[in-house]
Amino acid sequence: TPVIRAVGLGKTYAEGRMRTPVFDGLDLSVAPGETVAIVGASGAGKSTLLHLLGGLDVPSAGEVHVAGQSMSELSDGERGRLRNRALGFVYQFHHLLPEFTALENVMMPVLLAGEDVAPARARASQLLEAVGLGHRLEHKPGELSGGERQRAAVARALVNRPACVLGDEPTGNLDDRTAATVFELMLDLNRQHRTSLVLVTHDRGLAFKLDRVLELHEGRLRQLSAPTAA
Ligand code: ADP
Ligand code: ADP
Repeated sequence: TPVIRAVGLGKTYAEGRMRTPVFDGLDLSVAPGETVAIVGASGAGKSTLLHLLGGLDVPSAGEVHVAGQSMSELSDGERGRLRNRALGFVYQFHHLLPEFTALENVMMPVLLAGEDVAPARARASQLLEAVGLGHRLEHKPGELSGGERQRAAVARALVNRPACVLGDEPTGNLDDRTAATVFELMLDLNRQHRTSLVLVTHDRGLAFKLDRVLELHEGRLRQLSAPTAA
């Protein structure tokens, strides 16, 4: 089964009498372990699509299945639990909780999933080491660099061994060199754990390192082929 399957997906934002149709009739299937980039102009609807795939927003048409489960058939609580178990999120801004240490931040999704403190701590510290933050476990986000914060966010996204990580410009706030490092790290970890990745990025250089590049343009998704080397 695909880790994520969207069928006939549509979204129109409605505020009062203002209606903003973003897209309609989108189909997308992400296989286990597959990495997919979504590119497109600003305002094309990339974040909207990612929010729908992650069950953070409700589609106006069609539906999303995560790990074989239809999101629209679940209660809010069930959807939240499925999201915490099956998906990991990495945003442009790290969203770490400022009053907690890196270790506590990464443990949090495991505790939310109902597991005990000891295994949560073990898995969180193991992943923090894997992202190169073994020496920063007790640091709070304010004591970490931008790149370190994003690496902690990557560890948090992976700690529940999700089927798929959804990233919305996860390296968009970093300088080019740090961005490339964090990006390579995400790819490495995803390959290692066979975790799928759906990544919104405006950086085509990064996008073409993934298995598939889809462009969202005028409400449609089309696959781009790699630019041929000069
Ligand atoms: P992208 O991520 O490609 O820049 P978005 O998904 O953020 O695009 O936005 C797609 C369109 O939907 C834009 O026209 C944007 O203004 C509109 N939009 C996004 N979020 C909302 C919202 N919460 N309410 C109304 N319109 C929105
Ligand atoms: P995480 O779940 O990775 O710890 P956050 O702290 O950013 O990430 O999010 C906390 C919770 O809020 C998560 O369950 C996440 O799915 C949800 N969430 C994050 N962003 C949004 C959003 N824009 N709209 C609705 N829910 C969101």
